[in-house]
Amino acid sequence: MNMPNLDETRQRAIRAALGQAPFDVLLVNGTVIDTATSELREADIGLAGPWIASVHPRGTRSDAALVEDLSGGYVAPGFIDIHVHFESSHLTPENYAAVVVPQGTTTIFYDPHELANALGLDGVRYAIEASRGLPLRSICAAPSSVPSAPGLEMSGAEFGGAEMREMLSWPEVAGVAEAMDMNGVLGLSQRMREILAAGFESGKLIEGHARGLSGARLQAYVAAGVGSDHELTSGEDALEKFRAGMTVELRGSHDYVLPAIVEAVNRLPQIPSTLTLCTDDVPPDVLVEKGGMRDLLRRLVRYGMDPVQAIRCATLNAAHHLRRGDLGVVAPGRCGDLVVLSDLREIAVDRVFCAGRLVARGGRMLEPIPPSPAARPTSTVHLASFTIDDCRVSVPGVGSGRAKIRTIKGARFSSWSELEVEVRNGYVEVPAGCAVMLVRHRHGRHSAPVQQAVLEDWGEPRGAVATTYSHDSHNLVVIGRSPEDMQAAANALIASGGGIAVARDGRPVKVVAMPIAGMLSDQPGELLAQAYRELRAAADQVMQWKPPYRTFKAIEGTALACNAGPHLTDLGLIDGTLGEIVGILAGKT
Ligand code: FE
Ligand code: FE
Ligand code: FE
Repeated sequence: MNMPNLDETRQRAIRAALGQAPFDVLLVNGTVIDTATSELREADIGLAGPWIASVHPRGTRSDAALVEDLSGGYVAPGFIDIHVHFESSHLTPENYAAVVVPQGTTTIFYDPHELANALGLDGVRYAIEASRGLPLRSICAAPSSVPSAPGLEMSGAEFGGAEMREMLSWPEVAGVAEAMDMNGVLGLSQRMREILAAGFESGKLIEGHARGLSGARLQAYVAAGVGSDHELTSGEDALEKFRAGMTVELRGSHDYVLPAIVEAVNRLPQIPSTLTLCTDDVPPDVLVEKGGMRDLLRRLVRYGMDPVQAIRCATLNAAHHLRRGDLGVVAPGRCGDLVVLSDLREIAVDRVFCAGRLVARGGRMLEPIPPSPAARPTSTVHLASFTIDDCRVSVPGVGSGRAKIRTIKGARFSSWSELEVEVRNGYVEVPAGCAVMLVRHRHGRHSAPVQQAVLEDWGEPRGAVATTYSHDSHNLVVIGRSPEDMQAAANALIASGGGIAVARDGRPVKVVAMPIAGMLSDQPGELLAQAYRELRAAADQVMQWKPPYRTFKAIEGTALACNAGPHLTDLGLIDGTLGEIVGILAGKT
């Protein structure tokens, strides 16, 4: 009879800790950032196989296959990004790991929500397969909002309780990802009841997205069993969520709220152990230039958080939330995921260890990560070319004459407006100072014509920008004015299998192809970052109205049907507040 036996690597760790065998790696002359006690301690660290075997007084051991002199560096546990959609970097999991691991991130709790919206369960499977064996611990959260605005848009799939139960049965999945359908949770919609029930049944985590919830609505959302939030809007909002027992996942993408939240937590008797850090969405150029978790930590220190406390949030607190006792502290028995910092306040990452191996140094991987054998889902833009008439705005029932149409006013934060327009031969004469938006379903689930809207306060685009990465349904979105430019931008993307394109003078001037699911490039980080910068510069030439970095955000915001206010989706003009599809025609005149 075979008796279960203790893993061989554990047995080696025990012997190495006792001095009966040498360590594989010994880190000497460093200062340990003790996330349990918040002390900075001089200690040496012995690694055996994938484990930390011993953390002992400096200089007491020297027997090791490899001795690394840290010469005064600080040793932290590897950073844990508690909520991220890597799709926003437009990098494959392998290329994403190659960028963030040298920055000190060794674990991500990722939600492949965008891949799921494009490809359903196949998108989640691709993310899991492509994340296998990376020097980045990639823990999956099962997307819960596919689509995120049911009835108002159509993405590539629909998830209910059955899909959720299926994903939660996979060992790589640690919980239900952000429950964005807050109204569905509070109103006990069938879909959210099933999804939450699947979460409870699995015993895994249920992650939240509690934007704007407060008072009774917040209490109800937490009462539903949702355990976290990353949609913080102020210091008060964060405090209310801590007090409601939520894990706060402070994210780097909304920098303006960080100083107030740092101030609020610094005033508490102690930094809550339920404060964790995340990146959520970071575009490729920012990720490569500034970094993800590293940049967030740096900013928190700049805004007044003690660096040891900031690192605790990014490590031990996150490990607790993930229920991972093997992560988050530099101590024996834990995974050998370590970050060596040469400067504590600057979060200057020098060396990174993953599972006991030195994998990165000086901001670079020591060895390239081989491309994943996982089959890449390509050919996901199921569309015929746009005709010029697809790019003209029509008003149902009005062939010619004057008509009053509904318009979307403002970028990012939009409101309804109305305009009286001239219709000629079935098409609107777009008034001066206005832009046009087009959305077409690209997942092959319906064949409705191109949806059109007139935008106010966007200025007059001198070209067009098109994208197949438009949260959360990722249909093909075009913004422009001249039908020729919009057609050129849209058709460039149909030809490239998706991505982002800018067109001027009737031809594409910059296309970044994202052939994988219409949202991921196959280029490595540095190259994609450069291409993305050029894309922003090209978009800036077209959109004169705002700093260039806002263009893509504004386009996403105008398509994002789960937010309040007017949006254009593949089903038409919709009102996110009322949860209704409304027509373009406001009245005949
Ligand atoms: Fe969210
Ligand atoms: Fe998110
Ligand atoms: Fe999204």
